[in-house]
Amino acid sequence: MSGSMLAPRPPSSGGEFWPAVVVGAGAAGFLAAIFAGRAGARALLLETRSQPGAKIRVSGGGRCNILPSQVSLEDFHSCGSIHAVRNVLFSWPLEEVRAFFEEELAIPLKAEPTGKVFPQSDDPREVISALLKECRRAGATWRGGFRVAEVRRLEGDPSAGFELAGETGELVRCCRLVLATGGLSLPKTGSDGGGWRIARALGHELAPAYPALVPLLTEESRWRELAGLSARARLRAARGGKVIEEREGNFLFTHRGFSGPVVLDLSHHLTRPEVAGTELRAHWRGTLAGSWGAHLQAGGGKNLLALLNQHLPRRLAEGLLALAGAPAGRRAGEMAREERRRLVETLEDCQLPVSGSEGYRTAEVTGGGVRLSDLHLQTLESRLVHGLHFAGEILDATGRLGGYNFLWAWVTGRKAGMGVARSEPEPAAAGQ
Ligand SMILES: Cc1cc2nc3c(=O)[nH]c(=O)nc-3n(C[C@H](O)[C@H](O)[C@H](O)COP(=O)(O)OP(=O)(O)OC[C@H]3O[C@@H](n4cnc5c(N)ncnc54)[C@H](O)[C@@H]3O)c2cc1C
Repeated sequence: MSGSMLAPRPPSSGGEFWPAVVVGAGAAGFLAAIFAGRAGARALLLETRSQPGAKIRVSGGGRCNILPSQVSLEDFHSCGSIHAVRNVLFSWPLEEVRAFFEEELAIPLKAEPTGKVFPQSDDPREVISALLKECRRAGATWRGGFRVAEVRRLEGDPSAGFELAGETGELVRCCRLVLATGGLSLPKTGSDGGGWRIARALGHELAPAYPALVPLLTEESRWRELAGLSARARLRAARGGKVIEEREGNFLFTHRGFSGPVVLDLSHHLTRPEVAGTELRAHWRGTLAGSWGAHLQAGGGKNLLALLNQHLPRRLAEGLLALAGAPAGRRAGEMAREERRRLVETLEDCQLPVSGSEGYRTAEVTGGGVRLSDLHLQTLESRLVHGLHFAGEILDATGRLGGYNFLWAWVTGRKAGMGVARSEPEPAAAGQ
């Protein structure tokens, strides 16, 4: 694809011309179209698939975890400045985002004890149809089955606008453009990285992509043999002996490696291309309240397998004893000090060898993308290309599990939509 300039073609020469076009009818694109319209810029929302919101439909295990009930900057990561993430993220406070859905879109929500917020109906279709209705109310038009294959800047002054070519040759022109095309994760939902190619062709250098919230792989059969088991673990990502992030939650062994919420949340540390040498270490907690050292010491006449099995699944307990070289039938009180030290280390600082990840096929989100440092943070307009805005997962910021990625999509979609309308007035001839 080239980023070449087109021969000048005034809006009156035929074809469609819109004040604003939003590419991608996902969470971010919907909000961009709604808020552009509300602020006075009529938007056309283009989408590859015949139906909008494919990812909303499959999200949250089919229930759509629309928001978290709390948010802090630690719930997000980016290859760039985390301060830029903060500026954008907190520009629309969480309670106002929630009020937008509950009061303006009339979707009753419920917060679950996990801190995740869902529609009371547990039905993502309710969210999609409310968003479509609000688009119409805001004067935005949505069109499916239109895959934008190429975007060219119209020749003239820098505010001349863009021409978008669809895969089957249709042309649409616009003054302002929002790319809300998502990342590379779960490509069957339509997010295939096409938007990133367009951003590159228009002059943006992107932060390298990596799968995030993704199950990890291991080649060691001792762990794969535990497939199907789950246990509570405190997991650490460490580099050069230094802990970078630590979280506690459910850990799941799979036929290929490691999964479960706590693994997904830390997975980006092991998939980011620019940082090598990250280790994953687990403190196997199970139902244990105190330290393993104290538990073993208090164990006296009990054998080790029985002691571990009080708090961990039996097969995991057997595997950990084998790894530490401790006989399952040995009484706790009979352990030599060095033997106990090795077992406690295995239980509390257990290295999990990771050989890769399941990749974009199963990743919930994509890290990397359009750098926030290349954007005006008030409007999410490119500093490099006048009139080009970005929103959602295409940006280099990713949240953890629990509604944070939708939060990012809603906040950035609104910001880009308002940004479109806030920018310079359209040329007098603009209109459909
Ligand atoms: C299985 C799964 C479950 C998830 N569950 C949750 C959850 O419960 N809570 C949460 O917060 N996050 C969840 N996420 C993450 C969340 O869905 C995404 O971060 C969010 O949808 C990103 O929104 P977006 O609008 O930026 O991109 P997307 O939702 O990916 O939307 C982009 C849209 O752009 C369209 N498009 C792409 N290229 C083009 C093109 N060239 N022309 C026209 N259209 C194009 C695509 O078809 C797509 O519809 C989940 C992700 C997955 C994969």
